[in-house]
Amino acid sequence: MTRIVEATEEGLKIAALIIKRGGLVAFPTETVYGLGADALNPEAVAKIFEAKERPFFDPLIVHIADVKELDLLWLYIDDRAKALIERFWPGPLTIVLPKKDIVPDIVTAGLNTVAVRMPSHPVALRLIRESETPIAAPSANRFGYLSPTMPEHVLKQLGGRIDLIIDGGRTPVGVESTIIDLSEETPLLLRPGGLPVEEIERVIGKVKMLTESEKPRSPGQLPRHYSPRTPLRIIEDENFEVPFGIKAGLLAFKEAKYREKFFAVEVLSPSGDLKEAACNLFPCLHRLDDAGLDIIYAEAIPEEGLGRAIMDRLRKAQAKR
Ligand code: AMP
Ligand code: MG
Repeated sequence: MTRIVEATEEGLKIAALIIKRGGLVAFPTETVYGLGADALNPEAVAKIFEAKERPFFDPLIVHIADVKELDLLWLYIDDRAKALIERFWPGPLTIVLPKKDIVPDIVTAGLNTVAVRMPSHPVALRLIRESETPIAAPSANRFGYLSPTMPEHVLKQLGGRIDLIIDGGRTPVGVESTIIDLSEETPLLLRPGGLPVEEIERVIGKVKMLTESEKPRSPGQLPRHYSPRTPLRIIEDENFEVPFGIKAGLLAFKEAKYREKFFAVEVLSPSGDLKEAACNLFPCLHRLDDAGLDIIYAEAIPEEGLGRAIMDRLRKAQAKR
C-alpha cells in the first residue's frame, strides 16, 4: 500500500519517520518528484532501484538541506563549486565532486564521485531536515519513462511499490536539474536541465558540453530516456505532413499549426516562454501518452536557455529502443 499525505507538519513527520526507518518516500522538488531514501543507508537505497527497476549502474543524486552536510559527502569543495553554490543553491543545479567513504557505493554506482544538490522546494527542504540525513533521490518514475511532475504521475507508476507520496501539487520548474561535473580540470555538463548552462558559464567560465557521439559518462545520458510508451518524432521539416491513416498527436511549442490533422494536441507555451514550456513538458507528454495514439510529433524548440533541456528530453524520447 502506498499512502498519500498532504505536506502538513504531520505529513512531514510521518514521511521523515519512514526515511529514518529505511523506507521510500516520493516528495516534490522544484524540478520533478523525487523518490527518496536515506542516502547513508545502503539497504534503503537498494529499495529505490527495485521500485524503479533502475539498473544499478545508474548513480543517484544526494539531496541536502544545509551546506554543512557537504563536509560529510565531498572530499573537498573547490572555488568553482563554492561560487556556483553561493549563486544557485538552493535550486536546480547538481554538482559532481569526489566523494568521501561514508557515501555508499550503491548511491554512486561505484564511482569515486557523488552528485549533490540542494533543492529549493520548501517541502523537500523540510523533509530532509526532519529526516536528519541526506536523501538520495532519483525521479519518482519507472526507469526510462516520463518524469513525474504531479503526485498522480507518481501513483500511476509506483503505486504499491513505495511507502508514501507527499502531495505538493505540481512541480514549478518541471525538468530535472542541470548536472555539472567539477571533478576534473574542465567543468563538464553531464545533463542540461532547469538551470540554463549560460548562467553557469557567467559564473565559472566555459563549460564543456558533450556531443551526441561522445561516450556516455553517466547513464542519464543514455540515448533513450525520459520516454513515453508511444513513439515520438521531432518535426524537422517545414513541409511536414501527417501520414494518412495514422492516429497522431502533436506537441506544439507556441501555437498549434495544422491542428485539424491531429487526434490530440498539446501546446507547451502559447506565449513562447521557455520557462512555461519546460514546466508543461512532462504533463503534456503524459497526457499525449495516455491518449491512445500511434505516434506523437513534437515541434523543435529553440536551443537556448531552458530550450536546451527540453530538446535533450525530446531527443531522448525519440531515440530508438
Ligand atoms: P535522476 O536522479 O534520475 O535524475 O538521474 C541522476 C543522474 O545523475 C544519473 O542518471 C547520472 O547521469 C547523474 N549522476 C549521478 N551521480 C553521478 C556521478 N557521481 N557522476 C556522474 N553522473 C552522475
Ligand atoms: Mg530520472
